[in-house]
Amino acid sequence: MSRNFLYSGSPAHIVFGEGRIAAVGEWVEKLNCGKALVLSTPHQKADAEALAARLGPLCVGLFAGAVMHTPVDVTEAAMAVVKQTGADCVVSLGGGSTTGLGKAIAYRTDLPQIVIPTTYAGSEATPILGQTEGGRKMTVRDAKILPEVVIYDASLTTGLPVAMSVTSGLNAMAHAVEALYAQDRNPISSLMAAEGLRAFKASLPKIVGSPTDIPLRADALYGAWLCGTVLGAVGMALHHKICHTLGGTFDTPHAETHAIMLPHTAAYNAVSVPDLLAPVADIFGGSVGGGLWDFAKGIGAPLALKDLGLSEADLDRAAEIATENPYWNPRPIDRPSIRALLQDAFEGRRPA
Ligand code: NAD
Repeated sequence: MSRNFLYSGSPAHIVFGEGRIAAVGEWVEKLNCGKALVLSTPHQKADAEALAARLGPLCVGLFAGAVMHTPVDVTEAAMAVVKQTGADCVVSLGGGSTTGLGKAIAYRTDLPQIVIPTTYAGSEATPILGQTEGGRKMTVRDAKILPEVVIYDASLTTGLPVAMSVTSGLNAMAHAVEALYAQDRNPISSLMAAEGLRAFKASLPKIVGSPTDIPLRADALYGAWLCGTVLGAVGMALHHKICHTLGGTFDTPHAETHAIMLPHTAAYNAVSVPDLLAPVADIFGGSVGGGLWDFAKGIGAPLALKDLGLSEADLDRAAEIATENPYWNPRPIDRPSIRALLQDAFEGRRPA
């Protein structure tokens, strides 16, 4: 086994614990700020208003217009509020969509960010921003994009609906599975990836039956932090490429697409790197793809792309787009193999 690696630790402050949202004002001040703009989606506006009230005079405004895929016109509307209020930091309360808006503001202004995640997507732990303009999603990576402070408070996640908890958890797990075989992996990223998978294996099936159990929610949020951190630390491959293609071109829902594709992309790559994916087989039992598929089925995850409104003709186009620009993957990629993999995911077949 090679012992050559590069390891760079994230400079972010991670604050983890039930009730830690109470410390948000302290963190605004620790960042030498005093004029926070709170961000949320329209759906989480009431929670964002409560957060703004908690911040009191440290809060200068609320923008509750975050939407999926960070459209540039929404960012521009939020930027107008930043200017008008003179905000000196942003506090993002929500899932990847709200975090994306905070990152888009930070990318343009270098304002510090505090993120309070309420899903398991993991965006809060990465220096990556995906934004859409004219129907195209472009990804940028920049140190300014990485949030300075993340407050993980499980008590804010008990209202995440069970179906979203399941797909969001599988979305996070996909970051960890790809991190295990990443070309630039290092011992810490591999430890974090396996630990993240274990945290979700232990918590998600129980959350389905007890969604308001805070210790279980804390386990899943711990998994989300680990999986998000490895997403930010090492390169992703086939799985993220296919999901990006499906979401970007066919507008399939983000977390559901990841949830359906994960067993198939993992099974495909396990043929070439069974040793690197051995932790997945150990944690989920049986084969890499079959173990992940059984786990997903057991927690009621969607299993078939056809249920997301895709047609078989879309699969031809998706296979074409996902293979037109070469990128690194542990197993060579060609269009017929990816088309076959997509067909299996379309039908919802269990990988071997
Ligand atoms: P989301 O943020 O769009 O949330 C979905 C819906 O659930 C929203 O209406 C939201 O308000 C609501 N919600 C969130 N938490 C809730 C809670 N606890 N209770 C009730 N409702 C809640 O979904 P997501 O899957 O977290 O994020 C998806 C987006 O994040 C995509 O645009 C994706 O590209 C991006 N993302 C980016 C990165 C990155 O590193 N750049 C990583 C992962 C995801």
